[in-house]
Amino acid sequence: MRKSLYFTAEHQILRKTLQEFFAKEILPYTQEWEDNRRIPRHIWELMGEMGYLGLCHEQQYGGSEIDFFCSVVFLEELGKTNAGFQTAISVHAYMATNHIARAGSDYLKEKYLRPAIAGKLISALAISEPEAGSDVQAIRTTAKRDGDFYVINGSKTWITNGTYCDFYEVAVKTDKGISLIIVEGEQAGVTRTKLNKMGLHSSDTAEIAFQDVRVPVANLIGEEGKGFYYIMDSFQLERLVAAIMSVGGMDWAMAQTLEYMAQRQTFGRTINKYQALRHTIAQLASEIEQNRQFVYHTAWLHEQGEFCVKECSMAKLLSTELSKRVIDECLQMFGGYGYVEDFPICRAYRDVRVGTIAGGTTQIMREIIAKMVIDDVQYKPAYSETEGESKLPTAREIIASLPARFRPEKAGEQTIIVHYDITGEQGGKFTIRIEAGKCSVGEGWVGKPTCTIALADTLYADLELGKADAQTAFMSGKIQVSNLPAMMQFSKCFKRVS
Ligand SMILES: Cc1cc2nc3c(=O)[nH]c(=O)nc-3n(C[C@H](O)[C@H](O)[C@H](O)COP(=O)(O)OP(=O)(O)OC[C@H]3O[C@@H](n4cnc5c(N)ncnc54)[C@H](O)[C@@H]3O)c2cc1C
Repeated sequence: MRKSLYFTAEHQILRKTLQEFFAKEILPYTQEWEDNRRIPRHIWELMGEMGYLGLCHEQQYGGSEIDFFCSVVFLEELGKTNAGFQTAISVHAYMATNHIARAGSDYLKEKYLRPAIAGKLISALAISEPEAGSDVQAIRTTAKRDGDFYVINGSKTWITNGTYCDFYEVAVKTDKGISLIIVEGEQAGVTRTKLNKMGLHSSDTAEIAFQDVRVPVANLIGEEGKGFYYIMDSFQLERLVAAIMSVGGMDWAMAQTLEYMAQRQTFGRTINKYQALRHTIAQLASEIEQNRQFVYHTAWLHEQGEFCVKECSMAKLLSTELSKRVIDECLQMFGGYGYVEDFPICRAYRDVRVGTIAGGTTQIMREIIAKMVIDDVQYKPAYSETEGESKLPTAREIIASLPARFRPEKAGEQTIIVHYDITGEQGGKFTIRIEAGKCSVGEGWVGKPTCTIALADTLYADLELGKADAQTAFMSGKIQVSNLPAMMQFSKCFKRVS
């Protein structure tokens, strides 16, 4: 196993488990699902039982809330399966349920999120409309308040899981602006029509019409009028997810191609001996690796709690464009066999085409990046923005939250004792002890420290909240650390303050 900044031995175990699971439960059936144009319901339940639909979601609702690199492993391996299957699952687990998880009420989480994580309910995210795809502000579907209900009218299109899902998170226009509301699939006034797509055949994609559909006001996700910002915020995760799955898809295509090249002979030699083809493979392998490292870096930023619009847009842009080229070049290596359905690379060629369209087109990614790079536009996350500055935690609250943010998988078996000397009103002396995979916080100094750290309460809070830079603080002497490597090791053992 190559050394990695991002993956631990536990991640590798998860990868192996996923590979075995997909090889046994998914790959043998994908052709049948492609032919039937749907994934059977029991597969969702199986994925739910395995815990694969809630890796990022709260434990309270059945999720596992583990570090984001478990999701990276999951999505890469998912990306090697069948593109229709990966689309259906990733939309459900990382896109449609994301809004309820982040902004939904406890009632909505109990009613929809919990069964969705268990695979008992299938979800869809319905934003795009016949007249509004890239331009989300232009949606026309309305929700008019009528007592304790909203009455919804309008239509959506290209909705993944649209025909067979149990509920949609629908973007609608209310009096206060764009809002997100849950609508059940079987409700009166909902009509679904399956679309006949070029690829992703096993993934069900539909057009939905809403005619006087009445839903309780309690189905509103978060605040009325904040839907546009929730959507823009969640687009970052969606785009990162698309980039990670593309990495998996390219690895899959390369593996298939190398295997074929090693056995196909022309002029008495296997075709992997021809320099023209070898150089093509070498170029693709280099670009795939370069892209992979950027995607991992973006995933790391995301895991650290950064709202990385620029990097997520770049990752989606570059990964999906590269995927299109990689699969095209790979297909070429198969000659005529690449053009027949018996060879999976043929299906991949159709499937990969949507990558630069769905979830934000290549042109829209470039627009966002250009605005940030040229016009210095900054985007703010919708969820933390609504919390307001006054609610930011104090240094003492942040110290107290360390056990809840502790990541035992990063600490392993090591023992680290840190003595904090925090000056100021919110300061004090604290001992943080990491031992046998557990973390505790106590007032005062106890035990022989591995490292002592001295700084002001405001600086401590700013560093933890990502508002100050640790290196600058260190260089300017505002933070004193007795053992720098130990402090860096210690920092890795905690999730960022969310
Ligand atoms: C298989 C599939 C699954 C999908 N799943 C879902 C889903 O689950 N939920 C959902 O809500 N949506 C879904 N979509 C919709 C998808 O997100 C949209 O198709 C996409 O955002 C593009 O919108 P559009 O098709 O309306 O294209 P348009 O916005 O009409 O764009 C047409 C062309 O103009 C370009 N363009 C548009 N505006 C600009 C601009 N400002 N500058 C430069 N170029 C521009 C675009 O890049 C594109 O090339 C899915 C689509 C597909 C194909």
